[in-house]
Amino acid sequence: MTRSLSQLVSKASVMDDYDPDSMSVARARLFIKQFLNPVNKTEILPLRESIGRILAGDIFSSVNVPNYDNSAMDGYAFNAEDININSPTKLIVIGTILAGKAFDKKVEQGQCVRIMTGGMMPNGADTVIMQEKTKVDGDYIIFSEIPKPKMNVRYAGEDLQMGHCVLPSGHMIRAADLGLLASLGISEISVYRKLKVAFFSTGDELASLGESLKIGQVYDSNRYSLYGMLSDLDVDIIDMGAIPDNPELLERTLLSAAEQASVVITSGGVSVGEADYMKLLLAKHGQVMFWKIAMKPGRPLAYGKIGHAHYFGLPGNPVAVMVTFYQFVREALLILMGQSSPAPLPIFNVVCTENIKKQTGRTEFQRGVLFPDIDGTWKVKPTGAQGSAILSSMSLANCFIVLDETVGNLEAGSMVAVQVLHGLG
Ligand code: AMP
Ligand code: MG
Repeated sequence: MTRSLSQLVSKASVMDDYDPDSMSVARARLFIKQFLNPVNKTEILPLRESIGRILAGDIFSSVNVPNYDNSAMDGYAFNAEDININSPTKLIVIGTILAGKAFDKKVEQGQCVRIMTGGMMPNGADTVIMQEKTKVDGDYIIFSEIPKPKMNVRYAGEDLQMGHCVLPSGHMIRAADLGLLASLGISEISVYRKLKVAFFSTGDELASLGESLKIGQVYDSNRYSLYGMLSDLDVDIIDMGAIPDNPELLERTLLSAAEQASVVITSGGVSVGEADYMKLLLAKHGQVMFWKIAMKPGRPLAYGKIGHAHYFGLPGNPVAVMVTFYQFVREALLILMGQSSPAPLPIFNVVCTENIKKQTGRTEFQRGVLFPDIDGTWKVKPTGAQGSAILSSMSLANCFIVLDETVGNLEAGSMVAVQVLHGLG
C-alpha cells in the first residue's frame, strides 16, 4: 500500500482501491502510519527529567542486578549439604551479616551465620532458613522443618544480567523504568527531543475566552480540549489562537505554525463541499488528503504535510475533535515522538446495560461510562445524547463504546467493545 503522498493527493481518482469519500477508520489509520517517522533529534537528560520521554538508544546493563548473591529473608545462611533429613539439623552460629556489610569468614561444615534480608551470602553458604523456622539453643540453632537446598537466596544477575539489553530504543520511560535505570547506576539517558505541536481553531463564529459572546458566536472550546489531550503526552504545545475565516489570516497562521512545529493540528473548515478557505490554502501550501471517514462522529478528516510539518485537519464539532484525536492523532504523535510501537488505547468487551441505537455501515464511537455493577463485574452504559456537538457527553464519559460498521441496533444486555480513555476516575 506504500504510496507517496503526492500520488495520493494528485491522482487519487485513478486508484481503484483508494476512495477518499469512503474511508474506513482502520484504513485511514494505515494510510497515515506509512508517512510517520520519529523526529530524529535527541538530547541527554538527567534520569528524573526523562519521565514520559522516549529512549533514543538501547540501554545495556553494565552490571549484574543484584550485584552479589544475597539473602531474601532474615534467617541463617548455611550450606545445603548440612541439611540432616533424619533428625533436626543443628548448626553453630559463627556471626551476623547485616545488609551492606562484608563478612570475611567462610562458613564451614556444621556452621551457619545469622543474616538479614539483603545481606551478602557468605562464602561456603548457599541456602537461607527463615528465622521463624528455627529454635535458638545457646550458640546453636535447631531447624524446626527441613529446608529446600538453595532456598531464600537472590542470585547475582537474577533481575538484570550484565551485557543484556534492559530497555530498547523507542521505549517510553515510566516510573518503574526510572527505578530500573537507577538500579543500574545510570544517571542520565539519551531521549528524543520533545515534539512541537501547534494548533489553531478556524471559524468566524468563534469567540475566545475573556471576550463577550456576540449574536451567533460560540466560545472556542476545541483549543481547550485539544490542549488537554496533548497535555497527556509529553509534547511542547504551541497555541496559535482562534482564527476567523479570513484567507490572509489563515494563510499566515498556517505557514507560521508549520515553520515552528513538527505537527500542525487545526479544527473546523475541512468539511467536504464546504466553502472554506482552509482547503484551498492546504492545497496551495501542502500535500493534504481530504477524507470522508465512515465513522460517527468525525466524518471529515484531513492528513498530509505542510512543508516538513505533519498536518491533521480535524472536524469542527467539539466531540468529533476529541474522537478523531484519540483515533488518529494520538498514536501518530507517539510514533513521531519516537515510540516504536505505541500501545493502543485498551479495548475489551463488556455488557452494555442499555439499548443502543446504531446504523450499520459506519463505525460509531458512542460515549460511555464503565462502572462496577452490583454483581461485581464492570459494565458500560451510554452517557445519554450522542450528538457530535454535545460535549457534556464526552465530559461524563470514561470510555468510548466502539460499534463497528457491521453492528446495528443493540438490546440492553449485549456485549460491546469499549475503549478506555484514561484512568477510570
Ligand atoms: P466546521 O467544521 O468548521 O464546519 O464546524 C462544524 C461545527 O463545529 C460548527 O457548528 C462550528 O461552529 C463548530 N465549531 C468549529 N470550531 C469550533 C471550536 N473551536 N469550538 C467550538 N465549536 C466549534
Ligand atoms: Mg467553520
